[in-house]
Amino acid sequence: MQGYGAKKDAYGGAVMAYKLSESVFYRLYGNQTTLYDTLIRKVYIFNETVKDLLDCFVETAEVAEVISKLKTLYDCADIPSFEEDLNNFISQLAELKILREAFKHKQVYDSLVGAIANNMIASGTLYSAMLELCFRCNESCRHCYVVENKNAELTTSEVFKVLDELYRLNVLEITFTGGEVFLREDFGEILDYAYKKRFCINIFTNATLISDSDLIKLASLHIKSLSVSLYSHIPKKHDYITRLKGSFEKTMNAMRKALALGLSVNIKSTIMDYTKDDVSGLLDIAESLGATIQVAVTVNPKDDGNLSPLDLRIKTEEDYKKVIKTAVGKMEFCAGIAGDFKNTSGNQICGAGHSMVCIAPDGEVYPCNALRISLGNIKNEALENIWQKSPELLKWRKATLHDLSECKDCELLEKLGVCSFCPGSALQEKGSPFAKYDEACKMTAIRGQLAKS
Ligand code: SF4
Ligand code: SF4
Repeated sequence: MQGYGAKKDAYGGAVMAYKLSESVFYRLYGNQTTLYDTLIRKVYIFNETVKDLLDCFVETAEVAEVISKLKTLYDCADIPSFEEDLNNFISQLAELKILREAFKHKQVYDSLVGAIANNMIASGTLYSAMLELCFRCNESCRHCYVVENKNAELTTSEVFKVLDELYRLNVLEITFTGGEVFLREDFGEILDYAYKKRFCINIFTNATLISDSDLIKLASLHIKSLSVSLYSHIPKKHDYITRLKGSFEKTMNAMRKALALGLSVNIKSTIMDYTKDDVSGLLDIAESLGATIQVAVTVNPKDDGNLSPLDLRIKTEEDYKKVIKTAVGKMEFCAGIAGDFKNTSGNQICGAGHSMVCIAPDGEVYPCNALRISLGNIKNEALENIWQKSPELLKWRKATLHDLSECKDCELLEKLGVCSFCPGSALQEKGSPFAKYDEACKMTAIRGQLAKS
């Protein structure tokens, strides 16, 4: 074994952690560790030290933590070579998929993706698209912004046509979302088509309808991530939000199986007043599963302008702070997005309509799924045409931070250089994508206070 110690990843310098694959079973017989991997139907025989090593990775563990522990178990004269040996062996176990990478609340991968995204936003290069495939959902989440729309959903061939056009527009990443995408009977066909075009695929789902064969398909298509909605670590509370009895168990089971198949699972959670005490529990679930987690505290109005979901928002500033404090630094924290106002190249407000586009289930095209400014409909016009010529889009693209006239003297912005402002939320709450709204100011103030403390 060679070189032991915290392994640095190539992109973010973050600490690598591993977890035992769910399909791995082992015991110590005499001085031999016997291991079955039931997924790939392989058996391994290792020495007795391996049993101690594997025990350390039953829960997600960092390499440095494991080596410290093993050092206390073994009386090693030559510590450096013991460490080196162990480190190499852990890498081999990872290659054999006996151990799989798990980033402890640290989206190492996404740090690179974030860098790419920032680049694309800065240069105004279209690289990602969101395809909302249906309005329908088998859950009925209390905070959901999607409004059931009677307009016909795109047919399979219309979706294929959109994918062809996105390919011609040079889009790399596609996010399929709904409603609930697994309600579409042709979703498998759509995935195959997208994969053939070599799109890098993300899926947003509640995961309650995913079958084992669906999961095997997703693994075979090497999707980038499966983002799964989970609202509490307490089954009853999650089910209360989704209004679907048993949804917690179904969602958890699907995530476990997906992870066992090597899929990258990202838990997405919107924290509301009802679940404000559940952040640590959600973090623990993510860690024990080996999933990443992304928390939002912003509840948006419904797509038709109905403001009733806003009543679900966290009520007090104290509670906001508590939630953000628990979340921040331990996981990717998402509050709208907006990012850095001052450093955004070209003074764009955000990437909507520049580096990203959204196509709704009925073919309507928007700059972003959060920014419902209608740019045209792909049933009447080629997407390429809309992207290049839509008057609304050309007008939106000219918008800069200077259009946020109510923000121009903002001391917070001056001090922090960032704000949680989202033009989509502004449009829904205030009727203009340039109007300031209380939630953005409140969130920005809290982030400023926490940054100081
Ligand atoms: S509209 Fe909102 S969610 Fe969409 S890119 Fe802009 S800030 Fe982000
Ligand atoms: S904190 Fe409020 S006023 Fe200041 S920039 Fe953000 S939205 Fe505008």
